[in-house]
Amino acid sequence: MTGALVQNSTLDLIGNTPLVLLKGASEAAGCEIWGKCEFANPGASVKDRAALWIVRDAEARGELKPGGTVVEGTAGNTGIGLALVANALGYKTVIVMPDNQSKEKMDTLRALGAELVTVPPTKFADPAHFVHTSRRLAGETPGAVWANQFDNVANRKAHIESTAPEIWEQMGGRIDGFTCAAGTGGTIAGVGLGLKAFDENVMIALTDPHGAALYNYYAHGELRAEGSSVAEGIGQGRITANLEGAPIDTQFRISDEEGLEWVRRLLTEEGLCLGLSSGINVAGAVELGRKLVADGRKDVRVATILCDTGFRYLSTLWNAEWLRAKGLPVFPWLDR
Ligand code: PMP
Repeated sequence: MTGALVQNSTLDLIGNTPLVLLKGASEAAGCEIWGKCEFANPGASVKDRAALWIVRDAEARGELKPGGTVVEGTAGNTGIGLALVANALGYKTVIVMPDNQSKEKMDTLRALGAELVTVPPTKFADPAHFVHTSRRLAGETPGAVWANQFDNVANRKAHIESTAPEIWEQMGGRIDGFTCAAGTGGTIAGVGLGLKAFDENVMIALTDPHGAALYNYYAHGELRAEGSSVAEGIGQGRITANLEGAPIDTQFRISDEEGLEWVRRLLTEEGLCLGLSSGINVAGAVELGRKLVADGRKDVRVATILCDTGFRYLSTLWNAEWLRAKGLPVFPWLDR
């Protein structure tokens, strides 16, 4: 038995997420803004899709064998996706995370049975960086594969083969633009390539947080970062293999304050509790909608990604002391 709401396997619960019209964002943009509810995946983030595709690809290549181990460096969400996919298929997981990510993600990984290794955050060129640490650990562990989400294009294939066709179908083939931020770049590149395959006139925009280098790369051809961001899971300083050939038509840079304002509005006006990357994406979608309207397109419809649940950030984004310590505005109801 299969169908939209009946599945034969828990892994089939990954993907086929709802798409929702965002009222406040649509009013602000003067067109329709739609959010793809990736927080509705079983691991509560967009990264379940990449995790499933990476594991299936490693199996198909004969690298991952029964009883094997999946090792990955991650801001957390990919690790959570990998741990649940690995549990469902009988593999072990070793997850390396920078120690400045939310406690909720670490606790979730431990709860799922992953072996968690935390390392201090450092620059990519440092051999102690979480990505290099995870590659080394994979090499030292018998029967292990390194998921390598940044440069393993099975990641973006998940979005070419699942996210993009879902959005296209859910929007009845009427979509003018798509935007989201990049961590690995799998989502923006994969959805971009997938939507362009249906209609090359869909405008693909990168929404970059401060502190990342991609805005300047796509705007001026130079990888250069300015400022900083507390957003987890996004902000890239190089062209990963997943970003190579990404069909980026335009780009926006969004501050944490702007992203937070949309996080607040999505909660108070629409009842959605999300992470900061979702707020930054919605801010970017409003910019893209306004641009398409200004360009003279009619009945504009834009889609973006609601990446993960805000319940993953109760000790950070949804905590008055943490917000104050970061110099960010505190939601008034947190201060009561
Ligand atoms: N938002 C969050 C919360 C994430 O964890 C990630 C994954 N790093 C992203 C956005 C970006 O996704 P991608 O890696 O596909 O660029």
